[in-house]
Amino acid sequence: RVKNRGGQGYAFFDQTLEAEVNSRNRVRRDFVRALDEHAVILHYQPQMDLERNCIHGAEVLVRWQDGDELLHPASFIDEVESDTGLACELGHNVLERAATQIDDWLAAGEDYRLSVNIGLKHLSSSRFPDDIERVITRHPQAIGRLNIEITERAALHSPERARQHLEWAASRGIAAHLDDFGTAYASLEWLQTLPIAGIKLDVKFVRGILQDSHNLAIATSMSVLASLEGLQLVAEGIENRAERDILLDLGITLGQGYFFSPALPAGDFTDWARAYSSEHEALDPRRAPFQ
Ligand code: C2E
Ligand code: MG
Ligand code: MG
Ligand code: MG
Repeated sequence: RVKNRGGQGYAFFDQTLEAEVNSRNRVRRDFVRALDEHAVILHYQPQMDLERNCIHGAEVLVRWQDGDELLHPASFIDEVESDTGLACELGHNVLERAATQIDDWLAAGEDYRLSVNIGLKHLSSSRFPDDIERVITRHPQAIGRLNIEITERAALHSPERARQHLEWAASRGIAAHLDDFGTAYASLEWLQTLPIAGIKLDVKFVRGILQDSHNLAIATSMSVLASLEGLQLVAEGIENRAERDILLDLGITLGQGYFFSPALPAGDFTDWARAYSSEHEALDPRRAPFQ
């Protein structure tokens, strides 16, 4: 496009390319420093037991406190993921800090399961098993409480590696959920052979579930698939009561979304959790008086 415009076109092309490369280098350089200086922070979004209306645990979502700005993964994660070393550094860092948070909360009498997102590069890296081992050796209480989420795309990238690493993690007590399920091209046959404990119904399918029979059909079949395969199913992006209710009708018993809470810093999460528990008496549907 630009090349056909002759000399000036080339100059323009080079300049934008250079600016882009510079900004990428800046993200990488500043991110390394941010990791060291603890400007990369963790937020926690409650994952709810929809049936009992109580807290099941939380998903750990990374944020970058860049001066006054709180950056969400959309503005840096692709850049981080393009550098294997940096991606692994982030992955190990988040696992270690999430496990530390589990210990801190347990010491304060709060028992929460945490689910950490693991990127494609880290999952397929040969250091992944060592990172898991190191974290659970330092934090044995994380065993059975720490869960990982990997995207369908990451699992497909190097399937044999992914399978080995997930099997190994499961053998050490770290279970995995398949994130963004249904958004890539994995065959159901292959998915059946993956060592996973659960799947996450992507926000894309939850959005519009009330209006759109196509989304309703997908959510319904995922619910059937999950229960036949003995998998947990977590719905993400629940924004209102009606969505929560229809998911419950479909037999989906775990979910997260702004209807409950966005991701919060650790201190705000515990405040929120305490307030929620005192406002909503946990319901046990098996003992509900009107059934
Ligand atoms: P994800 O794992 O699918 O996370 C769900 C995203 O949906 C989060 O965005 C969350 O804030 C957002 N969300 C939660 N509730 C709602 C809702 O009710 N409505 C809508 N529209 N959105 C909702 P976030 O935090 O910006 O994270 C985006 C993605 O970044 C994550 O998608 C995950 O793939 C990636 N990510 C986050 N933390 C990490 C990390 O520590 N490591 C790696 N490798 N990736 C991460
Ligand atoms: Mg996730
Ligand atoms: Mg997801
Ligand atoms: Mg998603």
